[in-house]
Amino acid sequence: MTNKRNWKPQTALVHGGTLRSQFGETSEAMYLTQGYVYETAQAAEARFKGEEPGFIYSRYANPTVDMFEKRMCALEGAEDARATASGMAAVTAALLCSVKAGDHIVAARALFGSCRWVVETLAPRYGIEATLVDGTDIANWEKAVKPNTKLFFLESPTNPTLEVVDIGAVAALANSIGARLVVDNVFATPLQQKPLQLGAHIVVYSATKHIDGQGRCLGGVILSDKKWIDENLHDYFRHTGPSLSPFNAWTLLKGLETLPVRVRQQTESAGRIADFLAEQPQIARVIYPGRADHPQAAIVKKQMSAGSTLICLDVKGGKQAAFALQNALDIVLISNNLGDAKSLITHPATTTHKNLSDEARAELGIGPGTLRLSVGLEDTDDLLEDVAQALKSAK
Ligand SMILES: *Cc1c(COP(=O)(O)O)cnc(C)c1O
Repeated sequence: MTNKRNWKPQTALVHGGTLRSQFGETSEAMYLTQGYVYETAQAAEARFKGEEPGFIYSRYANPTVDMFEKRMCALEGAEDARATASGMAAVTAALLCSVKAGDHIVAARALFGSCRWVVETLAPRYGIEATLVDGTDIANWEKAVKPNTKLFFLESPTNPTLEVVDIGAVAALANSIGARLVVDNVFATPLQQKPLQLGAHIVVYSATKHIDGQGRCLGGVILSDKKWIDENLHDYFRHTGPSLSPFNAWTLLKGLETLPVRVRQQTESAGRIADFLAEQPQIARVIYPGRADHPQAAIVKKQMSAGSTLICLDVKGGKQAAFALQNALDIVLISNNLGDAKSLITHPATTTHKNLSDEARAELGIGPGTLRLSVGLEDTDDLLEDVAQALKSAK
């Protein structure tokens, strides 16, 4: 089925990109194949020359993966996409295909741990310098610019403290010096924030999170304009092989069908839980992008259409109190994943951010009492009751 431009997200996510076989199946078919056969030797030659459309090898492209990419394009409003085996494969490809030795990257310091490693540790090994800044103030981005700055990279809202960066302002700065902006849009989801419309050049996702949304498989996707993908990503992709498996692409396609319903429900629950937590005496601070007391509330209003499915909270009494609260929860599970149907809580200082120095953690606002809660699809009242009983018994 071809995509009509005027489809609203919920329609595009059910029908976008669908390729039906001769059997006319209702659901998307899973093409678990490595290769493709040709009617004739001439047909093989024509396909390799690019004179005839068609698939060649699943490292390059596969029909089920293709459906996932096209459906993501319809949702994001992007010209083209490449799906990857994980979110980190997407981030690494997007960054490495945007720079070369001698170039300079400016990135917000509040990054997902592995993204920070790619920028801070991996890139310099190949002669790509990086400067990390406090991304919440555009002046810091401006100050970090060098004559060889070619790329800006940010995540918003950030993990785990839900800091928000002004995507439009960073995009304008990038354009003014001929650099490009990559946005890791995992926390906002493609529904609540549209980085390409805000001026970003490339958007990346870990599809592992809300896009799967049911804790099953890893995946990622890179979206951008067709020219950039053809000229910069296409060959890297073919020859280095970060490709998504068709099985995982199929799982993610089915995830996309229910994404809007899930994210809406999770955001509604998260908003109510954030408001409840903000009133509890044992909680020192709640950071939630839907609340008026969010540190960047004005930017949230400008660039996000809804709050978040995640909440950051600081428990009074440090690590001991934070551990006691986690252990007292009954429905909410202790896990470092996010975006799942199951509500999950994690203590960043001892898990996702344990490799940072105490100083770097403090810079990011991650204290010994900080917890990150990813709100799932359970009944909101049950979740509120679980949090309330855990606060009471953890005292
Ligand atoms: C999870 C995550 C990633 C990495 O994704 P994987 O699928 O685990 O490789 C990158 N960025 C953000 C913001 C994430 O939450």
